[in-house]
Amino acid sequence: MSEIRHILSISGGKDSAALAFHLRDTRPDIEFEYVFFDTGEELPETYEYLEKLERALGIKIEYIHPKKSFEKLLQQYNNFLPSPSERWCTRHLKLEALIDYVKEGTIYNYVGIRADENRTGLIPHREDFKTIMPFVEDGITLNDVKRILNENGIGLPKYYEKVYDKEFDITYNRTRSGCYFCFFMRQIEWIWLLEKHPEEYWKAAKFEQGGYTWIRDMSLEEFAKPVNIARVKESYKKYEEYKKKHKIKNGTMMEEMAFLAQHDQDLDNFENDQFCSMCAL
Ligand code: SF4
Repeated sequence: MSEIRHILSISGGKDSAALAFHLRDTRPDIEFEYVFFDTGEELPETYEYLEKLERALGIKIEYIHPKKSFEKLLQQYNNFLPSPSERWCTRHLKLEALIDYVKEGTIYNYVGIRADENRTGLIPHREDFKTIMPFVEDGITLNDVKRILNENGIGLPKYYEKVYDKEFDITYNRTRSGCYFCFFMRQIEWIWLLEKHPEEYWKAAKFEQGGYTWIRDMSLEEFAKPVNIARVKESYKKYEEYKKKHKIKNGTMMEEMAFLAQHDQDLDNFENDQFCSMCAL
């Protein structure tokens, strides 16, 4: 029988971080391999959080790099940017690296999908590759994840910290790990990127060539104009008020899209997407 390997991919997000603590506490006899699939296009907050996690758990996370950089892949795709319906980025930057990494042995792949979510995780067509969802097995929900992270003194990744805009009286933050240019971001998160990490924002803008844009029908250069920033902040403010009034919880994507017509309709795939477990858990 081939060697059994227990693998936990850490994404830099809250769920996989909490899962690492949960596994330490509930499956102490298992020896885990901790891996991070590094696209090379991550936020500094992500690396910072991974280091924090290593210190808190006393573990070493192995960084796995893709064979080709995002920039090289983009050239190969003739500047055709990835999008929710054409996710070549996850395939090349993460999935191929994972498949390569798990070539040897019988694999138990631990995924941080929670009991209060409705998605399946990655299911490769290989008999010796099993996806395990301990949070689902153990009934762990979002509140438990936050509790686990607080109890272990690490809290949420820094990109969750709210930014307050006095002029519009709104607060906002980034809501996911993964590449700084991830097209799953809401428009207010692109503003967050512009304000918090202008260097990364303008780097993302440079990738827009040949008429391809990250945001539908608008280049990042155009988006950054004060008139557009004000429009998005206004619309976000209205949306937050609407959510409050109708008691819509964060993350109920369908209601969000019904209200914000400009959001890409493909975004609803995000909630159930198996590949997202690699980028944003
Ligand atoms: S984080 Fe977003 S842009 Fe990066 S690989 Fe995942 S889906 Fe693609």
